[in-house]
Amino acid sequence: MPASPFPRCSVGACDELAISFSPFCWEHTPRENYSAHLKTKLPTLISEPTPLNLKKVECEGLDFSQLDLKNSSFSQAHLSDCRFVGTALSQSDMIGITLKSCDFVGADMQDVNLTRAKVSNCTFSYSDLRRACLSDAHLREADLMGTMLYDANLWNIELVGVKHLKKKNFVDAESDPRDRRISLYEKDSLVACESYRTLKHYLHEKGLYDDAGWAAYRELTMERKFYFETRNPRYMLSLFMDILSGYTQMPSRVIVSSLVLIFAFAFAYFIFNVPTAYSGYAPNTHVHVASFWDCLYFSFITFTTVGYGDFIPRAVPLLRILVCMEAFSGPFMAGLYIFTLTRRYAVS
Ligand SMILES: [Zn+2]
Repeated sequence: MPASPFPRCSVGACDELAISFSPFCWEHTPRENYSAHLKTKLPTLISEPTPLNLKKVECEGLDFSQLDLKNSSFSQAHLSDCRFVGTALSQSDMIGITLKSCDFVGADMQDVNLTRAKVSNCTFSYSDLRRACLSDAHLREADLMGTMLYDANLWNIELVGVKHLKKKNFVDAESDPRDRRISLYEKDSLVACESYRTLKHYLHEKGLYDDAGWAAYRELTMERKFYFETRNPRYMLSLFMDILSGYTQMPSRVIVSSLVLIFAFAFAYFIFNVPTAYSGYAPNTHVHVASFWDCLYFSFITFTTVGYGDFIPRAVPLLRILVCMEAFSGPFMAGLYIFTLTRRYAVS
């Protein structure tokens, strides 16, 4: 561990570090005057970066706005009605912090550790929480309008009455505008999968179906990544469902894969000379060599289960099995298309 910039508490037997502007830790600091003392000290910090140690400190009504407090410690602190407008707080330790009615508008909170934080009625509008850790955090009535949350860890987060959280919050502002990176923390695939699931439920509840579809797609992509890492055979099924329909989120993929299937079967029919023109009562007496266009037409008619009967498969069992496979895949793909459309657009 790197050496702490904060001195030890002056009480001999105490292992804690001294809080800022006091020779003692919070347990040993006379509490009556501390908040007022801190209030007088804060304006003196405006000129230079000063990491603060406010571990376990309870205070209210303080104004930390525009200060540079990078690498500070607020762990287990209880802050209410405090202002952090435009405050630099990046890489600060806020593990287990309790925040009530605090204002973080425009604060730089990159890489902040908010694990197990309890946040109620706070605003984080236009603050930068990229790569922040919010695992096990409870967010109640928080305003996340324009909050940057790219690569943030939302594992096991509780979102109650949270406002303005959307897919847009997870855009990486530094990525190329033509190829925007949009994601939350994905290094641990299982954590990411769970986090996307929470986000999906939140977005769906808010009626943001497009955004919820994105979260659902990412959730299953992360699940597939986990299958890959653990060599689970379900990986192949997951990959197949992604290609076929984008995990039932992308109707266009169903259309494309249907066309690919029709062409693939047409090629197989062409190679094995499967279709033969039906000629009255003795269909197989002369061997008609079908052109590729005949095969494509035959494939389309089989896929859609129309079966006009102008072309029929040659009476060879293996070829009939091949044709049956296509006839089965047609209604399956049609069903999948309807399901995907419903999932994607139905208001439920
Ligand atoms: Zn102490």
